[in-house]
Amino acid sequence: MNEQLDISIVVPIYNEEESLPQLVEQLVNALRPTGESFELVLINDGSSDRSAEVLMKLSSEVPELLCVLLRKNYGQTAAMAAGFDMASGEIVVSLDGDLQNDPADIPLLVNRLRDGFDLVSGWRYQRQDAAIKRKLPSRIANRLIGRVTGVRLNDYGCSLKAYRREVLSDMRLYGELHRFLPVLANIEGARITEVKVNHRARKYGQSKYGIDRTFRVLMDLLTVWFMNRFLTRPMYVFGFGGIVAIFASLVTSTYLLLWKFISGQNIGDRPLLIFALLLGITGVQLFCFGLLGELQIRTYHESQGRPIYRIRDTFRGGRRLS
Ligand code: UDP
Ligand code: MG
Repeated sequence: MNEQLDISIVVPIYNEEESLPQLVEQLVNALRPTGESFELVLINDGSSDRSAEVLMKLSSEVPELLCVLLRKNYGQTAAMAAGFDMASGEIVVSLDGDLQNDPADIPLLVNRLRDGFDLVSGWRYQRQDAAIKRKLPSRIANRLIGRVTGVRLNDYGCSLKAYRREVLSDMRLYGELHRFLPVLANIEGARITEVKVNHRARKYGQSKYGIDRTFRVLMDLLTVWFMNRFLTRPMYVFGFGGIVAIFASLVTSTYLLLWKFISGQNIGDRPLLIFALLLGITGVQLFCFGLLGELQIRTYHESQGRPIYRIRDTFRGGRRLS
């Protein structure tokens, strides 16, 4: 138990009872021939079907299987986070429990990771899902996420990914941010690449998500964009907006004042006056927001002992220190 495992496979499970026996069999068949030491960490995310029972039965047959039962349904991100926390492998590979990802691709991702990457993401280049309902929104989302975050991947939605353990433990997952793991990894300075993988149609059960996911992805994108660009300097965003607004307010009020004194007319009923006031108030508020943000960021980093940098390697006398 003390030795470091080579690979941990992490799979979140929510109502996938029919898929489980085949999933475990395929995983074992993909991994045993590689000769690497591995564990299968399957997390039952409060399934309402018999997934937990099936998992427990499988665990008595497959020694590599670690099954983790969550108390209730927390959602895919939390289930994956639980798996990441339990996993002890040097390399961690995540995939879906519905057999849509092909375990046979795992060695491919692992090899690519060892070429010198910290995160290797699967690309379902021949995706077996409904065209209009799934593939089209996903294509738009991938383009948008790539453009907004600067981390260009063809397929953010593919759960089949391999990670180096250090990078994974640097990241904190919230909400449904598992989709943005490559962006979070990029924030931590990870080297990221993509590998084409097989994708299969769902045979059992059904997808846990509907079209309403699109909206949540957009909201998450905003959060991630902000974190990616301004995590260590919120004052730059808010402070900049604040200065622009205050400046605009000053210009507008000066214009109104000049108008009043030069033309001698009343300005009390001018909409422009309200506009100038609003700009002024908004500006001051944005400015204060920025200051509060700066305080928050300090708490964020210091409360968790998070450094504002990540070291990849250190060398002395030509030798790697570890
Ligand atoms: N999942 C989970 N908790 C949830 C919803 C989903 O653990 O609340 C798991 C699910 O069992 C599957 C993976 O997350 O292994 C992806 O779910 P799904 O296949 O429904 O998503 P899709 O492939 O349709 O995007
Ligand atoms: Mg699926």
